[in-house]
Amino acid sequence: MDTQNWYDAQEFAPGTYQVTEAGRWNMFLFVGEKKALALDGGLGVGSFRKFCESVTDLPIEHVLTHTHWDHVGAAHEWDAVGVHPNGKEKLANDYSAGCKDFVETWEGKPFPEGFDPASFTIPPAIFGWEVKEGDTIDLGGRTLRVWDTPGHSPCSISLYEDREGVLITGDLVKPGQPLFIQVPTAVLSQYGPSLRVLEKIAAENEVKWVCSGHTDPFGDPSVIGRMAAFVDDVAAAKLDPPKKVEAGKWGVVDEYEAGDLKAWVNDNARK
Ligand SMILES: [Zn+2]
Repeated sequence: MDTQNWYDAQEFAPGTYQVTEAGRWNMFLFVGEKKALALDGGLGVGSFRKFCESVTDLPIEHVLTHTHWDHVGAAHEWDAVGVHPNGKEKLANDYSAGCKDFVETWEGKPFPEGFDPASFTIPPAIFGWEVKEGDTIDLGGRTLRVWDTPGHSPCSISLYEDREGVLITGDLVKPGQPLFIQVPTAVLSQYGPSLRVLEKIAAENEVKWVCSGHTDPFGDPSVIGRMAAFVDDVAAAKLDPPKKVEAGKWGVVDEYEAGDLKAWVNDNARK
């Protein structure tokens, strides 16, 4: 595996890799019998495509769970990418600004060889095809199904892979971390219904791993139902009043907490 001494990679199920950039941003690689799927692209400080090609010789498709800056960084490494119709127009955006803070302040392990933080940009990506509710991605011997799960972003999708029981939730389910319902694209009223969709997938399938863009593969799918109930309570203002917390570049947000679950919400997301 060519991690470029930058990525942390783990094969958490056969032919199924989580690749983590700077300890915070996850990408996934699913290898089938006919082709492979590279899901999300992190920041693009490393070359995710190079990593994928060091694991498999099969053709590799690139699909995004949503178009936030920290998921699109490697998309330009492919000729074209698959994305939800609501994310189509976003691929041409210049996302470099989102990354600037990170590359300028990073103090962890050295950047990959040849990487120059001063000239770093995230080049725009090319739209290839729509990926949306009801679609299936057949890799040969394993298939992923797609659901529209807006809330964190209007272009958010979730995917369930049937052979290894892997549920990819984009940034929707983050066990152990606050749900990000304070980002500019978040809509609180859509979060609960989308989490219920995922809860149904977990009820009808043997989900072994719940994955997200920012947490490690999580082995207990019951967290989804608990999270759905929690977010419903947040939306219905049934919980104790939130704490005001300073959330870095997002300013002051409302922090809700119930047991091990947390969510950051702002007024923009309540509209
Ligand atoms: Zn996101």
